[in-house]
Amino acid sequence: TQRSQPPHNIALLPPPIFLGHLIPFIELAKKLVFHHNCTITLIILDDGSSMKSQKSLLQGLPTTINTVFLPPASTDDLPENARVELLVSVRLTRSFPALRDTLTSLKQLGTPATALVVDLFAIDAIDIAKQFEIPAYLFHVIATNELSLSVLMPKLDESCTSEYRDMEEPITLPGSIVLSPEDLPDSMKERNSEVHKWALDWCNKFLEADGVMVNSFLELELEAFKDLEQRRPDVPPVYPVGPLIRTGTEAESDRGSECVKWLNDQPPKSVLFVSFGSGGTLSVEQFNELALGLEMSGHRFLWVVRTPQENIADAYLNSQSIVKDPLDFLPDGFLERTKGRGLVVASWAPQIQVLSHRSTGGFVTHCGWNSILESAVFGVPMIAWPLCFEHRMNAVFLTDGLKGAIRVKENENGVVGREQIAQLMKRLMQGEEGKQIRNRMNDVKIAAGNALSQEGSSTQALAHVVQQWINWK
Ligand code: UDP
Repeated sequence: TQRSQPPHNIALLPPPIFLGHLIPFIELAKKLVFHHNCTITLIILDDGSSMKSQKSLLQGLPTTINTVFLPPASTDDLPENARVELLVSVRLTRSFPALRDTLTSLKQLGTPATALVVDLFAIDAIDIAKQFEIPAYLFHVIATNELSLSVLMPKLDESCTSEYRDMEEPITLPGSIVLSPEDLPDSMKERNSEVHKWALDWCNKFLEADGVMVNSFLELELEAFKDLEQRRPDVPPVYPVGPLIRTGTEAESDRGSECVKWLNDQPPKSVLFVSFGSGGTLSVEQFNELALGLEMSGHRFLWVVRTPQENIADAYLNSQSIVKDPLDFLPDGFLERTKGRGLVVASWAPQIQVLSHRSTGGFVTHCGWNSILESAVFGVPMIAWPLCFEHRMNAVFLTDGLKGAIRVKENENGVVGREQIAQLMKRLMQGEEGKQIRNRMNDVKIAAGNALSQEGSSTQALAHVVQQWINWK
């Protein structure tokens, strides 16, 4: 800790909308406050909605974390079908004048920001940090593997003459991760799209950061960290500072206590937790198949249901405005038939409390990076069911790299059938394969704990970053 140093005011710039990004930013802020004597200015772009979920996350933070809201920036002029990644990034870029004003007024108040830490969607804010002559850091809240891919992308783009799906060779990432073109992140799939152009610009821009912190840990993605280290100085220094997962007291809410109470009555490691992140949704058909698969399996489950939607990425944009009750979409009689062995909750469950509960024995996950980290921290084996963004790539990592999950396979219509769902549940929750995955996740859990211990790799890496900020020029 740097208690003898004057406090540093670190400005953090998470994106609006994505809770999966805001959560690790808040946890990073807490670490910097509690362990490194920093003060924090959390700069959040108002996305024009009520931001109910975001605001509830911001409640009860220590007073040394100061929140500044920037006025909403419109993207009404963008095409209606513009991808959510692009929308979020453009909104952030359009708020840069307000960001500059905020940094200027911090300076005038005598509490200048001494470093700017940006989210991946705000990567261009690196230039603003440079204007203010403060270090510009990226806090990469998704996999380190994704950085390795970003380093390869520009060359891949140059060498590819048609679409990536026509390439003869798969893409190989450090740590035995072989990506087929379908498993590329959505933003990198269609070479002629606007979002692909954004992704390519990103791959070049992140190289200009003074440093990159990643919400991961050395032991989880050792090969990726080694690879990036070897690429210095072309690639900025990359520091694993995770796993930073949500801390708080969500179980005290009504819904939280309902889940925990129900889990308390189940046998150890018997329940499969089924949840697709903060905004993930299924199609009507897929929702129905999943329900029937859960029923067919005969296993205990805790399922977070969300109103079905056809366009998954868009669902993230308007997840707070959906009024239909997701329970209305369940097959007739489903709740009665699964009563006692299944609990269905609408929209949200206290995931940390669920994954850490002794009755939870498996996790059907959409492979969002936070969910993966949380599963790692509590040693829960997974069924990987990727939906969108970079989730398919994470699924390959989970199965082939980490060996901590079994992956679902969609049929020719893009649907995972009920029989397969029931069968995968059996494979994970019973039998030898499941046992091996469980043992593996137990080792990962121990490694995660070590990384965050007092002398652990992530603790040391964060201390090193703070020292870099203190020593800056
Ligand atoms: N989460 C939760 N309850 C839910 C759904 C999600 O607490 O019912 C939390 C989850 O614990 C994680 C975050 O929301 O911290 C989701 O992040 P992730 O990266 O897994 O997925 P994303 O929402 O970004 O797709």
